[in-house]
Amino acid sequence: MSDETRIDPGEWDRILDDCDGYQLIVAGPGTGKTEFLVRRVARIVEMEKAPRDGVLVLTFSRRAARSIGDRIAHRLGQSTMPVEATTFHSLALGVLESATGGAAPTPLTTPEQVATVRDLLGSEDESNWPVSYRGILATPGFAEEVADFVLRCSERLLTPTDLEAMARERADWRGLPGFYERYLKHLEKAGRVDYGSLLVQAVAQLERGPNGAGDGIGYSYVLVDEYQDTSPAQARISDLLSAPSGNLTVTGDPYQSIYSFRGAELRNIDEFLRRHDGKRIVLGRSFRVPEEILSSALRIVRAGDLPGAAGPVESAPHQGRVECYIFDQETAEAEWIAGQVDRAIRVEGIDPGSIAILMRSKQEMLNEMSRSLARRRIPHDRPDRRLIDHPAVRLIADLVEIAATEGASRSGSDSVFETEGADAAARRLLLGPLIGLSLGAQRGLTSLRRQGMPWREVFATTESLADFGGLIGDVDWATAMPAIEGFWHVWTSLPHFGEIVAHPDRADWRRAYSSFAQVLDRQADRDPGLSLAGFFEVAEDESFEATPLITHTNDGPAVALTTLHQAKGLEFDVVFIANAVEGVFPDLRRSRRMLRPELLSPERTTDASAVSAFQIQEEMRLAYTAMTRARSRVVWTATDAGVDQGERRPSRFLLAASGNTTLEGLGSPRHEELEPVSLAEAEIALRRIAADPIAPAPARTAAVSILARSSRGAWDARYFRGVAPPGPDRPILGSVFSMSPSQADGYTRCPRRYAVERRLRLGDPTSPYMTTGSLIHKALELAEGKLIGTGVSHGDVDDALAALRSQWEAADFGSGPLNRAWLARAEKIVRSLYEKWPASSSPAVKLEQEVEMEIDGVTWYGVIDRLEESAKGHRVVDYKTGTQYPTVDDAAVSIQLGFYALAVNAEEGPNVVAAELWYPATRAKSLTIRKLDLGRLDEVEQAMRDITSLVASEDWRPQVSSACNRCAIKSSCPAWPEGRGAYLS
Ligand code: SF4
Repeated sequence: MSDETRIDPGEWDRILDDCDGYQLIVAGPGTGKTEFLVRRVARIVEMEKAPRDGVLVLTFSRRAARSIGDRIAHRLGQSTMPVEATTFHSLALGVLESATGGAAPTPLTTPEQVATVRDLLGSEDESNWPVSYRGILATPGFAEEVADFVLRCSERLLTPTDLEAMARERADWRGLPGFYERYLKHLEKAGRVDYGSLLVQAVAQLERGPNGAGDGIGYSYVLVDEYQDTSPAQARISDLLSAPSGNLTVTGDPYQSIYSFRGAELRNIDEFLRRHDGKRIVLGRSFRVPEEILSSALRIVRAGDLPGAAGPVESAPHQGRVECYIFDQETAEAEWIAGQVDRAIRVEGIDPGSIAILMRSKQEMLNEMSRSLARRRIPHDRPDRRLIDHPAVRLIADLVEIAATEGASRSGSDSVFETEGADAAARRLLLGPLIGLSLGAQRGLTSLRRQGMPWREVFATTESLADFGGLIGDVDWATAMPAIEGFWHVWTSLPHFGEIVAHPDRADWRRAYSSFAQVLDRQADRDPGLSLAGFFEVAEDESFEATPLITHTNDGPAVALTTLHQAKGLEFDVVFIANAVEGVFPDLRRSRRMLRPELLSPERTTDASAVSAFQIQEEMRLAYTAMTRARSRVVWTATDAGVDQGERRPSRFLLAASGNTTLEGLGSPRHEELEPVSLAEAEIALRRIAADPIAPAPARTAAVSILARSSRGAWDARYFRGVAPPGPDRPILGSVFSMSPSQADGYTRCPRRYAVERRLRLGDPTSPYMTTGSLIHKALELAEGKLIGTGVSHGDVDDALAALRSQWEAADFGSGPLNRAWLARAEKIVRSLYEKWPASSSPAVKLEQEVEMEIDGVTWYGVIDRLEESAKGHRVVDYKTGTQYPTVDDAAVSIQLGFYALAVNAEEGPNVVAAELWYPATRAKSLTIRKLDLGRLDEVEQAMRDITSLVASEDWRPQVSSACNRCAIKSSCPAWPEGRGAYLS
């Protein structure tokens, strides 16, 4: 028996106090589900229904558990006895520890579990397996499949015998039941447990005891968050824990069930009130999602079959909007989104942390989007950024590498690291922020090393580096001590760490070290003997990034650039759902796994139409969940490549969200983009129209006339961004900015134009020449990229031309004839390059290599077109597709080449032997090459310092030259009569 109560926020108090028995709280997006849970726990304690340690809150991630625990503590006031908020896995480990007196098995990390499965598969009798798997049993890919499959079995509480019965119906599962049994026995013998069998063992332990485990694990009240995401094992644990008291509250939203691939069973929520006689309470009003967004999201999900659904909640009273746009290419889509984000932050004043750009898959468009944001200097977090790649942690890794290598060489043992790697690590350390030597001083020390002196002695030659010498001379902290102790040993041995993290600009370093310590702590739970050297070896495994704590965030608020799944549970003001094209979203591929573990669920069948219906419904729920993260604005974007390339068609979800029945009318937002929403933007838009040669003459005249009137008082030039005189009260750089060689070049030509075009990003600096150059670079990257690692010095002209033509397919120079004309020009350049390819060239080791280095606290970044390697060292090459080239003397101190050489030297050791600009578009018989004088690197470094300092001082004086005649902002340049009219004074 059950009854249903739908409540508004005003009725919460009454329901919160009625906390006994079994209760299913159905809570739609933004209805205050977590707040309800927190307040219910507080009421249980305040009404003295149970002591604090008699209440348990279960959730899925450590982050959620910590957040709920903090909120409960805040509500109840600090106490030495907090209410326990934890994850299912931590709880399960606690149950086993309690039952075994602290001798519970150690959980395997994901990479460890896959490695264990792979080892066992390597010794399998192949004849037990289907023929199609016999050749791949010991491969990493198959090991991952099997590792995931056995986890899914455990989460469903399936024994090897259960699996054997199921495998009788599926020939492709032959081999799995026997393996599953051997795998579980192996774990038991080794005293280890995976995340699935951890839950199974906890269930068994709880079932054995009359009251919990019969040894003190029993709670008067159990509360479970996000119940729609529970697996059968997790639902069983919730039931067993609450069985003695009969007090179990679960909260969930069937519309947000999106984790079936991770073992979540949606029917858990549907069957809750069939298993228990209890109440169903629906939180009826959303505090976050306004009508426009909610009704649009419901249009998508409406066709879905949702067991246990509560029906639509009432929307929040504020206004929202949903927009849908279609672009002709991904680059245009990404650029437009980045522009909109930029505008939202700068013009509308929205905090970057309140903006999300979500995509269905990490594989698609994420890099393109990240580059578009980076070009605009918009801080953003990517889901795949790894903590171990953070410079703060890399520094520890470098110290470990040097110490471990030197220690191994002293003892004559093998090291997991190589001497060359340790040398490169030492050079990074010397030049990095912890030590910060000049290049000259670093070279001096490196030359001692080249003469055969070990690094510990090299460091000891300099008084200020004696601490480092002592640390490197003692290898125990790196290879013998537990990792966390090794880390604190480094920390306390080098006072430099304290100084560096105390710096106000190094908040992200502080956060990175704090996360690093947490990760080491967690790792110690699993493998107490793991050293720092062992940790970094494990962490280099790509799948290690799956550990949530391994990600780190930017310094300060950042736009979330992430997947739709990872946005679950978060909320934003503005949400972009990008790359919404059929084939990507919805993702209806037959199965993401070869072994099809989803068929372990009794709900699932091999019937094609049922499989497809299940998949589309979960994708609908994913769309609903993503849209309802937004408080005020949702923007769907997609590309439409046209009838010829039918695979890039806008998603059916985009159409449903728009409310349209056809895609007609969902065009590019170009015109809307031009509509100003502020005074500053109005002036910018008018300036653009006035200066736009293809705008209609009446529009240009009208724009000039409005601007002329405005200068007599209607507008205030102080708010006209880009022409206001610079001053300390109106800096345009912000406290953090970066530089690049092309920025330095722009600044040197004219600081005024640089500030307006590059820093304020007014005007359009792109041209067909730049587009052509960029497409040629992409084609060369494609053609030459195939040869990396082959030892061949360069590719074939036909391959390069084919790559070039493929790039042109998506290019748009304005018309078909123009496209063909620019392609012909590009082909000529590419042919010329391959005909004149220098004989001295060596095989490339990297293409389009991103590099960066710090100059006086400012990061310089750049991309090296081609990095060659020969026995002598590295050669840096930059292709130039223009016909103008510098003099030999100017190139000798080229900032671009000098910066690349300095950055490569810093990263790889001082072994750049040449840095060259290649000009294939000139008419010379052989390739026109301009070279850097490597003996003048100190001069280049000084020039970089000078320009950094000038830019930092915000000196934007105009520099009149013959280039003024082609300058797009001449009409607002104070150096010219027509530009002075832009000022009031
Ligand atoms: S008109 Fe000349 S001086 Fe003025 S901003 Fe443009 S390039 Fe610089």
